Amino acid sequence: MTHMYGRHILIVEDEEPIRNLVRFALEREDYQVLEAGTAQEGRLAIADVRPDLILMDWMLPGVSGLDFARELKSSEAFCDIPIIMLTARGEEEDKVRGLYAGCDDYMTKPFSAAELVARIHAVLRRSHVGGLDAPIEVGDISVDVAAQRVSIKGTPLSLGPTEYRLLHFFCTHPERAYTREQVLDRVWGQNVYVEERTVDVHIRRLRKALAPFGCDALIQTVRGTGYRFSTRPAA
Ligand code: CA
Repeated sequence: MTHMYGRHILIVEDEEPIRNLVRFALEREDYQVLEAGTAQEGRLAIADVRPDLILMDWMLPGVSGLDFARELKSSEAFCDIPIIMLTARGEEEDKVRGLYAGCDDYMTKPFSAAELVARIHAVLRRSHVGGLDAPIEVGDISVDVAAQRVSIKGTPLSLGPTEYRLLHFFCTHPERAYTREQVLDRVWGQNVYVEERTVDVHIRRLRKALAPFGCDALIQTVRGTGYRFSTRPAA
């Protein structure tokens, strides 16, 4: 199973600051984050986009996270979606019950972004859902993240490290306009001082590399904003 635009993680959590923290941490790792504040919202989210993994808060208003996890694990359609339970400190005994409910792992709040990402990787690797090494495919472009190789219609593409990161970012964040500053933050990192026109230089190089395959038009200039990576024609 190949995922078009990175893996989807659903977080079911009623505390917005925690959802924001998780979204921020996971989007930096090129996951697509879906959010729900209750089990009911979670059901709707899952019906819309099937997530590759669910982060489930234990204490939710209404149906508890544990009951929702049980519900999913006993359903034929969703039983194979891995679930990591999020618990508050002091619920250690309950954690054991969480594992009995068929959950794949648990984490105690507060947790660090690094711990979260490591746990998710470990659970996804175990679960074989999608496979962590599945290439990202957008149009004719295929990005093999594990090998850090790009090919177009099977032909390998030679890219510099910055152009690779740029293309990887675009392939995992398509159909959305980004300012040069946002591209700098996401591709170069927030603590690096680089001028915004550096983005233009590397965009130019990337377009040049894509041009022989007719894929350079995927990188669209958004006037007054920055850039968009899209398989649809620019407006
Ligand atoms: Ca809660």
